[in-house]
Amino acid sequence: MSTPPSRTQDLAEAAAATAAAPAPAPDWAAIRADFPLLSRQVHGKPLSYLDSANTSQKPRAVIEAMDAHYRQHNANISRAVHTLGMEATEAYESARTRLAAFVNVRPDDLVLTSGTTQAVNLVAYSHALPRLGPGDTILLSRMEHHANIVPWQLVAGRNGARIAVADITPEGELDLDALWRAMTPDVRILGLTHVSNVLGTVNPVAQVCREARRRGIVTVIDGSQALPHRPVDIAGIGCDFYAFTGHKMLGPTGTGALWARREHLDSMPPFLGGGEMIREVRFEGSTFAAPPHKFEAGTPNIAGVVGLGAAVDYLRAIGMDRIEAREQELLAYATNALSALPGLRIVGTAREKAAVISFLVEGAHAHDLATLLDLEGVAVRSGQHCAHPLMEALGAPATCRASLAFYNDFDDIDRLVAALGKARALLG
Ligand code: PLP
Repeated sequence: MSTPPSRTQDLAEAAAATAAAPAPAPDWAAIRADFPLLSRQVHGKPLSYLDSANTSQKPRAVIEAMDAHYRQHNANISRAVHTLGMEATEAYESARTRLAAFVNVRPDDLVLTSGTTQAVNLVAYSHALPRLGPGDTILLSRMEHHANIVPWQLVAGRNGARIAVADITPEGELDLDALWRAMTPDVRILGLTHVSNVLGTVNPVAQVCREARRRGIVTVIDGSQALPHRPVDIAGIGCDFYAFTGHKMLGPTGTGALWARREHLDSMPPFLGGGEMIREVRFEGSTFAAPPHKFEAGTPNIAGVVGLGAAVDYLRAIGMDRIEAREQELLAYATNALSALPGLRIVGTAREKAAVISFLVEGAHAHDLATLLDLEGVAVRSGQHCAHPLMEALGAPATCRASLAFYNDFDDIDRLVAALGKARALLG
């Protein structure tokens, strides 16, 4: 006869069973209902918002966090010793800390900016402008957004550095052999997007950064389209700089950040001068605060940063791995449905893709299509997606782009397909 299990054994088994039980699947319909704007109508039709790569919609938690900030805590940060000033400072710095944990970096190495554009400009002007000169090369991939092209051109125009381009395959993947060949000894900086906003391609950033580092090349990764859609461990990528924008990851517009290796932050001069970023100011000269505050001149977007902190909490509560899995399901469904439409061609068929689908329809201009889709309540972006050099290489004057987020559902995709059918009939 076996001995009966003891109470301790029972508890241990119960604890093990709880630990092993899979977490309940998210209720995606309830999650969608967290986004008030998604329940509005457009042209008398329900809204299917398929433009999240442009900017994401905001959950109630973000809207309410900003509302509560202005109603209860509004004051300037880092200046006043009164209660509101301290509350606002605490809220701002707490958001930085949560954002840093979200991407696995130290808060002191995370500069809060107005978005990716400001972050890349900061690197270009503070790091590259004084260091590079004639004979040096800035290497950029063909699939960069203008935010990771134009700042480099402005700086190269001033210090005499050269811009070179790393090409992509016809499927829209980075051509890695070409990239390794392009990493010649004169290359000092490599600018690369983590995820393409046009093609959806997910680039192997950790592998590329490893190769670049072996060659002494400083890497600047544009994470604008990665952070909203997949777990991102910036420390694990091994880059020198990582830029991202808050409004694509449920946060307010005018928020974002630049992470940089500490040695870069310490050695870079300030980008903008003013209040908040100084230690001591005399007319003979000023000394500066330690990073990250050295790069945060003037009154920042305090309420926006509070909202971004709430966005991070919201994303974490769902789980980035689940968000990624959900979006991959939506992507597969949409890719199948769109591929079946006669005359429609998907641009960007990389093996690893985020939920971005650019497409062309024979005989229809992208803007005409997008306008007709809008009349059906379906919002897609059309045009060149701030990536003129990529579009030129693709030989496409413009595409339509349906970009998905976890708050979309299969019905949104069915409505896109139906609206495309109607539009094509109208356009003949
Ligand atoms: N990089 C990529 C890949 C983007 O998609 C975008 C926005 O569309 C940006 C940079 C610029 O972001 P922001 O305008 O928020 O600075």
